[in-house]
Amino acid sequence: MNSPLIRCFLNSSPKWKRSSFKERPMDHHDHHHHGTNRIGITIALNLIITVAQVVGGLVSGSLSLLSDAAHNFSDVIALVVSYIGGVISVKPSTDAKTFGYKRAEIIAALTNVVSVMFIGVTILVEAVKRVGDPVKVNSSVVIWLAALSIVMNGLSVLIIQKPSKNNLNIRSAYLHLFTDMLTSVAVMASGIAMALWQWYWLDTVLSVAISVYLIATSFKLLSATLSILMLFAPSQYDPDKLMKLIGAVDEVLDVHHVHAWQLTDTQFHFEGHVVIREDLCLSETVELRKRIKDLIRKQGFSHVTLELEYERCVDGDCTKEND
Ligand SMILES: [Zn+2]
Ligand SMILES: [Zn+2]
Ligand SMILES: [Zn+2]
Repeated sequence: MNSPLIRCFLNSSPKWKRSSFKERPMDHHDHHHHGTNRIGITIALNLIITVAQVVGGLVSGSLSLLSDAAHNFSDVIALVVSYIGGVISVKPSTDAKTFGYKRAEIIAALTNVVSVMFIGVTILVEAVKRVGDPVKVNSSVVIWLAALSIVMNGLSVLIIQKPSKNNLNIRSAYLHLFTDMLTSVAVMASGIAMALWQWYWLDTVLSVAISVYLIATSFKLLSATLSILMLFAPSQYDPDKLMKLIGAVDEVLDVHHVHAWQLTDTQFHFEGHVVIREDLCLSETVELRKRIKDLIRKQGFSHVTLELEYERCVDGDCTKEND
């Protein structure tokens, strides 16, 4: 009875059945649907702001209004990219596209954040150009259109606020709209100052401050997006802690060839080789594997793949592997 082969034969009960390689529909979250609808409304609001500011900029001769219109127009493009990203990423996976299109929203978020940084630099350059060369503008048009922009962007922020915590894509759009609202507040304040005291320099100073803030906040989001694309482990992941937890399981001798990464900002994957002390037969490893997987899942990983090994690693010397 000590031979593993006999034990395995006695224990064996081939209950497994062939199942699809696709991920279960349960794995898909439905918050994207709400998020994309909200983005659709903000696209419409931004289009209205853009048209109003182009007309207002031409009528008043205000360069700041025209550049703000250019900004809002690139917002529309960025939001359309986000919208498409949100729609595509919920498409189901296939046998050939095993992850579906989940990374589409990461690519959309990257496009969005890069566009914000580009706009920030453009405003900064424009502001520097205006130093010592103030232009007289119709300040009341600036004030009214800035007020309209505050209302529209404020509305967009309220619409998009709810899903902003669990979705990088929506969060990037939210951050963008919020800084846009601050921009409009500054534009309105400078419009009032221009009307009262002809303080044209104030507009330049505010533009510099806002664009620097815009660039700085974008860096955080850019780093989060790039971390996912680079397959870095989620920031919550503590490798030493998890290795200790798995190592503390009696049956476990060693853990190696570990990969921990993020598919999206909410879905974490873990894979690794676990060497066990005893030459258990497959049916006996079910409970052990579940126990180890539960340890890993408690650390936030939703997709865990383990290769259980005894004495010899099938990949040869794992430490020499590069992937
Ligand atoms: Zn914007
Ligand atoms: Zn191995
Ligand atoms: Zn590997």
